[in-house]
Amino acid sequence: MIDPISLVIGGALVGGGWLAGRVSARRTKSEQQSPAVCGCGHDLALHDREAGHCHAENYRKLGNGLKGWARCNCQRYTGPTPLEEFFAPTPLPPSQ
Ligand SMILES: [Zn+2]
Ligand SMILES: [Zn+2]
Repeated sequence: MIDPISLVIGGALVGGGWLAGRVSARRTKSEQQSPAVCGCGHDLALHDREAGHCHAENYRKLGNGLKGWARCNCQRYTGPTPLEEFFAPTPLPPSQ
């Protein structure tokens, strides 16, 4: 039997490891090349690879007059594309 909670935790661990790897790889390279940052100020890694929109959240004033976290309204990454992106393998095969 598959426990959905352990599936979620496993996915979070894999995603976290992937992100940590990306960040550390970027740190070592940042001395030589400018970081891949979008016009919205967020890193390329925070943008959806296919749809292009930004996953990051900004702490800002919301419509109700209170401050809170709101999804970045960037729809497409506009910054420089690092070379590694061209050679990155497809992460996962289609699930269907
Ligand atoms: Zn953004
Ligand atoms: Zn952006």
